[in-house]
Amino acid sequence: MKLFRSSTVCSLAMVGFCIFAAAQCLSALKEQKQGLRRFEFTEPYMGTMFKIVLYASDESSALEASRVAFNRIAGLDHIMSDYQPSSELMRLSELAGGPPTRISDDLYGVMSAGQEIAQKSDGAFDITIGPVVRLWRRARRQHELPESARLAQALELVGHQKLRLDAKARTAQLLKPGMLLDLGGIAKGYAADETLRVLKGYGIDRALVAAGGDIAVGEPPPDMEGNGWTIAVASLDSPAQRPNRYVALHNAGISTSGDLEQHVEINGTRYSHIVDPKSGRAITGRVSVTVIAPDDTTADALATGVCVLGLERGLKLIQSIPETRALICQAKNSELQCSDWHFPATRDQSHDSPIVRMEQVSQRFPGL
Ligand code: ADP
Ligand code: MG
Repeated sequence: MKLFRSSTVCSLAMVGFCIFAAAQCLSALKEQKQGLRRFEFTEPYMGTMFKIVLYASDESSALEASRVAFNRIAGLDHIMSDYQPSSELMRLSELAGGPPTRISDDLYGVMSAGQEIAQKSDGAFDITIGPVVRLWRRARRQHELPESARLAQALELVGHQKLRLDAKARTAQLLKPGMLLDLGGIAKGYAADETLRVLKGYGIDRALVAAGGDIAVGEPPPDMEGNGWTIAVASLDSPAQRPNRYVALHNAGISTSGDLEQHVEINGTRYSHIVDPKSGRAITGRVSVTVIAPDDTTADALATGVCVLGLERGLKLIQSIPETRALICQAKNSELQCSDWHFPATRDQSHDSPIVRMEQVSQRFPGL
């Protein structure tokens, strides 16, 4: 076990995110004063690395809480995976076309959150996208575009209106045979939120959980009291360089989606792993979207949906949802357009806001 000081750079740059905690000599002293030490743990789930950073009074309670938290993530992976045929999600998809089926609270929770974002985004985010995503996954493997006839067939099975949830009975019904659910755009955010909840149950509320580019943060580190977890955001305009945007957050979620990581180039065009549910086409223009929301389930789903909507419609969606912010970068006619953080004048003034500070450029962190 290693004690990490707050000057540690958490390297999540792979997915366009890095987390930095500001270098301060005083911090270690303050942590000791509060009797808290910083611990980091990393394990692979859901096709990515889950990183937990937490403050606890001693090593054994940090180890115990993180073990239970990782077990919880493993359980969620088993429920929500569309790669494991035995997952609850895949078993539900197999029953497509049949009567309503009772599902677990977790599957119900993530699916109803997904349906809410589907409605708000006018179907740009849609967890029934499975049949189309499957065709694009094969296209990525074989470096060959999906046939339009097959795409059209798959699209017949897509649409959030074809998925019915019953909150009272806790059931789900997929109205058409052949439908296939895909939680790839929301499950990691949900898992990050749930991990924070588990840690809280162990009395650990100063924690950060990063599932690749999906990050949930609780109370700030002891040395950042009144501030938050400092998170550096790399986007299209600075993918290789040091990130030049920072946010300080607590009790919130922040997620990045885009084609920086997963994409395929076929006949000179770059196709993202995000698909437009209206056309069945994979997103082609370069895009990166970072969303901040009160929880990471929402941030994760919105970031995916806003990639589909693009700059203008994406910003409109973000403006319509309270306590959310977005940084949207999109290449248009070989020029890069960035929205930069959208700040409605009326929000962010209250002390309760999860966003405590936003920085352009890294002047405050010259040592990084
Ligand atoms: P990442 O998985 O890299 O964090 P996202 O959160 O944006 O990125 O999720 C992308 C995944 O979401 C895709 O791999 C696919 O499984 C699924 N997906 C693709 N397009 C959509 C969409 N329009 N709505 C919902 N889910 C989608
Ligand atoms: Mg997402």
